[in-house]
Amino acid sequence: MPELPEVETIKNSLLPLLQEKIITRAQLINSHCLVQNSLKFPQDLLREPILNIKRRGKLLYFLLSKKKILAFHLKMTGKIFVAHSKEAPGKHVHFILTCENKKVFFEDVRKFGRIYLFTQEEFFNWSFIKNLGPEPFEITEEKFITLFQSSARVKSLLLNQRVIAGIGNIYADEALFAAKIHPQSIARAIPPDILKKLHQSLLQVLKKAIQAGGSSFRDYVNGLGQKGNFQKEFQVYGQKEKPCPKCKNTLTTLKVAGRTTTFCVSCQKKYE
Ligand SMILES: [Zn+2]
Repeated sequence: MPELPEVETIKNSLLPLLQEKIITRAQLINSHCLVQNSLKFPQDLLREPILNIKRRGKLLYFLLSKKKILAFHLKMTGKIFVAHSKEAPGKHVHFILTCENKKVFFEDVRKFGRIYLFTQEEFFNWSFIKNLGPEPFEITEEKFITLFQSSARVKSLLLNQRVIAGIGNIYADEALFAAKIHPQSIARAIPPDILKKLHQSLLQVLKKAIQAGGSSFRDYVNGLGQKGNFQKEFQVYGQKEKPCPKCKNTLTTLKVAGRTTTFCVSCQKKYE
């Protein structure tokens, strides 16, 4: 699933191509992916300029005029990219947005991805947005520490979008390894200075991943259809049975919050 760095990269790659362009056509090929509210599809999209493109957690959204919002949640395998000038849509393209001379394809093999059309009021009253935790780059260390004053496992809190937005399995595993914290640690048993370290590690991992254009070990591509490179820098994620990059001990896995978690038993301390 595309996480914060991937969606941020998609946003950054789409913005220079689409900003100020007018939506001239919106074709829904497969209706399952569209979630409508009070606005009408496609009428309320047509002739709308794309004023800006933003990200909140793992959600990408286009700000249109009259405060309309077109949002994309890519979920497992969703991709959104500007097609080449003569590119025909593949069989998994469910939606095509034409913006003057640019065609944007929404492609999704597993079909969990969704497109939403909102008024601004509907968007901010949407339970998903209302319940979303803070952005990792927008909170102070002190605020970050308060998010972890819970008896839950540290990794399940990192994955919980209501606690902190945008983190998935990849960046949770990488940040916990960098901060030397065992993923099953009880969050509130972790000393504040170690939680500070976790915040710094998380920001560093996310920043590096954005610089590398995201992680493309599966389907993810950016808004130009290009793969990212951060998968080459994974320390633990998906590296089961390989030697720990720090101590050479074999990396192991276990399930936390239903997700496969890879870590080093000797480098990562368990707080209980
Ligand atoms: Zn190790």
